[in-house]
Amino acid sequence: MSVICLLCKEREVYYIKSHLTPAGITENIYGKRNEELIYTIDAQNKNVDKYFGRDYPQNETIEIKDAPNARKGIFCKKCETDFGTYEDAVQNKLNGLINGIGNSTIGYKTKLEVKYSCIDIHPNILITFLLSVLWRQCTEQVLDNKDNPLNLEQFEKLRNLVLENISISLKDIVQKEVIEKPKITIFSTYKSRIEPSYANPHPKNTNPLIFFIGPIVLLYWLNDKITDEFAKITLINQNILVDELTLDKSKIGIINQGDWRKIHNVVAKILVKHFLE
Ligand SMILES: [Zn+2]
Repeated sequence: MSVICLLCKEREVYYIKSHLTPAGITENIYGKRNEELIYTIDAQNKNVDKYFGRDYPQNETIEIKDAPNARKGIFCKKCETDFGTYEDAVQNKLNGLINGIGNSTIGYKTKLEVKYSCIDIHPNILITFLLSVLWRQCTEQVLDNKDNPLNLEQFEKLRNLVLENISISLKDIVQKEVIEKPKITIFSTYKSRIEPSYANPHPKNTNPLIFFIGPIVLLYWLNDKITDEFAKITLINQNILVDELTLDKSKIGIINQGDWRKIHNVVAKILVKHFLE
């Protein structure tokens, strides 16, 4: 593995464990840090694996493994610190909002009757954080020799965008024009803690592309043309794909638990199919 940081491609890496999808955001699903239980399915290599955090209560044999969503020595100290600054600015607040969906959050509806909540975080901070997460997911796909939903040019463009934005301080980034490109939409559901979720890109390439980030589903627009039969392929209601709901307005769509399960079930079925091929 290269000893140069994968983000800045300039400075040397330092050997600390980096979470590719930040632990803070998946904590809702996997459990607290070191108490996680994570399943990984590798359809290509026909391998299903289980990972227990160090402190996960269990009776099975404890085999020491690397956490599937973390790598050592891929980022330099500066980039890792910059990731951390944005994670700290977003994660607790966003998790709090998601955990409170249906209780403490004030619900609104779009013209097409999609429910949403407003996130009390500046869009540039939210967008920078989430772009950094999906760039890291794509990086993980590459490191694991799996499909990267972004082609080389798109992947490099995203890297530059993440690098450029994440090195700007929080104080300065809110003074900049709101980031409108790439367009992003996010949504979650009620009681996401007990609902299925993933930390990986959708196995089908659509526009917008779909990324699962624990309790958040993120739609990443490559351009304005929605894939034909998007809703049929993904079971994501197209009413959510409206400009009224994009993240440059700090909004998060909310769908019901039944629809959430169907969307996640599609992915499970695709993986099972690949697995059995
Ligand atoms: Zn770096």
